[in-house]
Amino acid sequence: MQHQPTASHFIDGAYIEDAAGEAFDVVYPATGEVIARLHAATPAIIDKALDAAKRAQKEWAAMTGTERGRVLRRAADIMRERNHDLSVLETYDTGKPYQETSVADATSGADALEYFGGLAGSLTGEHIQLGDDFVYTRREPLGVCVGIGAWNYPTQIACWKGAPALACGNAMVFKPSENTPLCALKVAEILMEAGAPAGTYNVVQGLGAVGAALVTDPRVNKVSLTGSVPTGKKVYAAAAEGMRHVTMELGGKSPLVIFDDADLENAVSGAILANFYSTGQVCSNGTRVFVQSGIKEAFLKRLSERLADVKMGDPLDPEVNFGPMVSERQRDIVEGYIAKGVEEGARLVTGGKRVDGDGFFIEATVFADVTDDMTIAREEIFGPVLSVLDFETEEDVLARANATEFGLAAGVFTADLTRAHRMVAGFEAGTCYINTYNLAPVEAPFGGMKMSGVGRENSKAAIEHYSQLKGVYVGMGDVEAPF
Ligand code: NDP
Repeated sequence: MQHQPTASHFIDGAYIEDAAGEAFDVVYPATGEVIARLHAATPAIIDKALDAAKRAQKEWAAMTGTERGRVLRRAADIMRERNHDLSVLETYDTGKPYQETSVADATSGADALEYFGGLAGSLTGEHIQLGDDFVYTRREPLGVCVGIGAWNYPTQIACWKGAPALACGNAMVFKPSENTPLCALKVAEILMEAGAPAGTYNVVQGLGAVGAALVTDPRVNKVSLTGSVPTGKKVYAAAAEGMRHVTMELGGKSPLVIFDDADLENAVSGAILANFYSTGQVCSNGTRVFVQSGIKEAFLKRLSERLADVKMGDPLDPEVNFGPMVSERQRDIVEGYIAKGVEEGARLVTGGKRVDGDGFFIEATVFADVTDDMTIAREEIFGPVLSVLDFETEEDVLARANATEFGLAAGVFTADLTRAHRMVAGFEAGTCYINTYNLAPVEAPFGGMKMSGVGRENSKAAIEHYSQLKGVYVGMGDVEAPF
């Protein structure tokens, strides 16, 4: 098979197979063709991975931050050198067009490795003087971290979790989504090639049960999940049993608010980035597009014109800018939501149909006249479905934007500077945008409020989620005791 890896898992610096694990197929979403067949991790494989991580973590943490950083930065260089091959693999794993994967996946992973590699040497505790006595803090790793990934950004998620974990001196066991299991194996290979000790970054395959077994293992100190809210609730609860640290990057139903005074062309571009990149399979997507009445018709007209430039087709063709859904199941889910939108009275402006053939393609879809109570305005669709909702006033739109259990992202387009900052201060969301949307540079914190998660990925904030402080009180005089 075209993309069959050496073996299903990567543990302790080497590929390893255990054919006793349940077999599952990896399908290229553009053609429905099986490109690899892997085995889910057995208890023996999980055990091996956690043992390797536990052993390697001590050796890795004993190195200086500068030494660890050098390894991560070398890995970043290798990823960039191999960007083409890694991007092609990402396209096979996810179906996302090469036009995207070549600029947004291995490159984003490399950014994380480079950024946290750069920070590794400057991680410190602090010194607190108390008269003659003093306290110092040691910034220590957490130990063994488990990463569990969703299927939309398999390389990026593997790196966004792995890079800060390793920078802080932890070891990682990563479980990709079974839909997209191939890319994380390459990340592990590259880290070893860059000089990371065997066992510092391990990949085990499997479905939810493998993730669940990892989360409850006593050797595990931290769990970082990218996934849906229902899975997040389960994983958070399971991690709490062992008082484990968690980062939860979960789903969203984010608002994008476009005022009459916004630059029309930029607002349309923002709405496109907020809904159709990666065929809509982006957690931070601004799928509830609130458009003020004065600009609504012009916005819809221009959006429809711009959508005529969607080029759907072979994702490996560099001219193609719109790929299939990751799986037949996800395509069916999206189709179900589109039917629900029509049934509940939303106006279908464009798209709405699946494309006949073996791939899991569905058209970029826009609904207008959507109301807050409709299913398509309330539930995360995770597909290329944009809903336009009308509004009149700032006060009204802010309340409606926040009227959701989710709180991942939010955006506003307006020419009014003070209104933009007022809106952002009012948004109940962890990742906000003014006059742009969906950019996620490694330097900026990324994560959600409310049901969209806890903790932050990227930026210096991630260091707090992959390390812990030990306070050390140093007595410099006699010890006074009451008796
Ligand atoms: P899921 O929640 O279905 O799965 C996420 C991961 O968790 C998968 O690897 C899955 O394994 C695993 N898993 C499932 N059940 C358990 C369990 N009980 N214990 C441990 N692990 C488990 O999400 P999807 O893969 O369908 O991804 C889409 C979701 O991810 C969307 O809701 C989206 O919003 C969210 N997401 C959030 C992002 C963020 O940063 N906030 C970014 C990207 C996506 P398997 O799939 O193999 O069953």
